[in-house]
Parts: sequence; structure tokens; C-alpha cells
Amino acid sequence: MSEIFCSVQGEGPLVGVPQVFVRLRGCDLDCLYCDTPAPDPYAPARLQDPRDPEVWTEADNPMPLVAAAAHIQLSRCARPPAALHSCALTGGEPLLHLDFCLALGEVLQSIGLPLYLETAGHMPDAVEAVSPLAAWVSMDVKLPSTMGTPVPIERFAETARRCRAELIVKVVLTAQVGERELDDALRVMAEARHDATLVLQPVTAMRGLEPPAPARLLRMLDLAAAHFHDVRMIPQCHRLLHLP
Ligand code: SF4
Repeated sequence: MSEIFCSVQGEGPLVGVPQVFVRLRGCDLDCLYCDTPAPDPYAPARLQDPRDPEVWTEADNPMPLVAAAAHIQLSRCARPPAALHSCALTGGEPLLHLDFCLALGEVLQSIGLPLYLETAGHMPDAVEAVSPLAAWVSMDVKLPSTMGTPVPIERFAETARRCRAELIVKVVLTAQVGERELDDALRVMAEARHDATLVLQPVTAMRGLEPPAPARLLRMLDLAAAHFHDVRMIPQCHRLLHLP
């Protein structure tokens, strides 16, 4: 466990909804735009006090499911019902901890709190297993220019095909992204799940990375709309508000 805290969803079509975030530690990818630090896997988890967002405590790792579930319930009970729309399970890559994700998904289902799963999208078996417990799955499509390496796009398409939840497909756009590679990737993804919501997310400027110029963003939007019916361009809104 990395941390459990309450905030608002800052990305994608659910932007702005209040969620409890369960962030698991560790990732097997190395995206050039990654903004998630990779601390010692055995470092304590950070738990935000649901009654005071400025107060955090620590818990030993590995954190048992029952302790995580209790903190989620506490977050839910401490605030008005409308202050918690759903639970975002995120990372790192949460699906590296598949047993935990499955167990947490069942707990959330039993307490009636919808699960919003965020994954890099490169683990089709795990997505097939967890997605029946999720209301939404938000998966990425990585591009060669944002990974610095060739990308097995078919693997992401396989994940999309096997997802059993409402699917959101997100592509992070940097100034280095080429329109041809974007077009190629979106064609494959649309063949896999034409009904997905496609989110183009201009990168938040960091470590020398910049989003594409405005005119290129608009061309990329048209390009995406040629493949998907539901296309949005949404930046990372939580960054604008300095929220976790
Ligand atoms: S998949 Fe996510 S957590 Fe992993 S390296 Fe990429 S951006 Fe970072």
C-alpha cells in the first residue's frame, strides 16, 4: 500500500467527482511522463485522516486488506454520502497486486461503493479478472514516443477486448507524439472497443516534457474522432488545484 486519501478525480470523464483513492505501490513500466515516485516497497503506507485532510498517519506494510477496508469505511462514514462518489484503485500499476485488487473489489461491492480501476492497460488477464467487480476501468494506451521504446499495441487492444466494465481509454500526449503513431494506435484500439470513451490527456508540463502545441492538439482531436464516437480532451485537473 502506498496511500489512502480522499480527493477529487482529476482525469477523464469522471473529472471532479469526489473519491477515496487507494494507491498501490510499484510499477513494471517506465513511462517518460511518469509522475508517481517509486519509494521503498516496504516503506509505511500513508493514511489521510478522513476528518482532516492535512493530517496523515502511517501504517506498516504489507497492509492487510481488512485494515484498508476499515479505512475506506471510515472515510465513507466520516463525511456526507455525496462526498464519496466511488473508490479509485490506482498506482503505480495496481494489477501487479491482483489478489489484493480482487479482494478489495469484492469488499467494495459488498458495501455498495463503485470501483474505478486505473491501470496502464498492459495486463489483459488481470483486467479480465477484476473488471467484473468494477464500474469503470480507465486504461492507458502507451505510444512509442512516450515510452522511449516500441509498444506492443496488440496487448493493449487485448486488454480492451477483455474488459467487462465501462471502458475509458486514455492517451497521454506530449509534444513528441507523432500524429501517425497516434492514428495507428487508435485504429487498433477502436477495432477492439469502439464503444470506449477516448480521452486525450495533454501532459502536465514536467521534467522538460511539454504538451503538443494548441493547433496540433486540435488536429489530434479530429484524428481521434475519426476512430471513436465519444472523444474528450481533458488535462490533469487535480494538478491545477494542487490536490493529491
Ligand atoms: S504506467 Fe503509470 S505508474 Fe507506471 S511508469 Fe507509467 S505512468 Fe508511471
